[in-house]
Amino acid sequence: MNFQCNNSSNSNILQIIKEEVIECKKCNLSRTRKNAVPGEGPTQASIMFIGEAPGAKEDDTGIPFVGRAGNLLEKIFNNIPIFREDVFITNIVKCRPPNNRNPLDIEIKSCTPYLINQINLINPRIIVTLGKYALLNFSPTGKISEDHGKMLIWNKRILYPVYHPAAALRNKNILKSLESDLKKIPEILLLTLSKKLKK
Ligand code: SF4
Repeated sequence: MNFQCNNSSNSNILQIIKEEVIECKKCNLSRTRKNAVPGEGPTQASIMFIGEAPGAKEDDTGIPFVGRAGNLLEKIFNNIPIFREDVFITNIVKCRPPNNRNPLDIEIKSCTPYLINQINLINPRIIVTLGKYALLNFSPTGKISEDHGKMLIWNKRILYPVYHPAAALRNKNILKSLESDLKKIPEILLLTLSKKLKK
């Protein structure tokens, strides 16, 4: 289904996408998932956070970023502050790959239309990619070690790559970078209010 961004019916359409994802059997991940994880957040969110794929806890609950990585993200949000209810959080693929392996190209290709439709409907000012694989999906030559914390442009939107919170749990330097990059988001959001970058 190809949705166009338009009006207040967007929240209904987002709900339809959610229901389609929950029922989706377009790739083999539907056979091993417990729950698909469509994403959550308000239709008018200014910021979209996009990770790679759901983990075990997300698979159990159907809710994005609820495991240890999600808790860390929420803790950093609280310190900035960014309110989780003001952002839409989702993943490139909506079902958990077995044993948390990287999603296959065919799985990403099958699932991408859901993400593109979510982006078009929500029309965020900033897309924040979490980790290397989410960045590569938008910028195939991107390098998370070089690009994190930089404002890039993707389809006339700000693309802002940061490290994945799961990596930050394992490495203190990455944690510092993640915290520092996320702290800049309110400032970037203000920048988008200027005429050139207006939504
Ligand atoms: S990963 Fe995406 S395409 Fe594959 S079954 Fe889940 S929702 Fe469908």
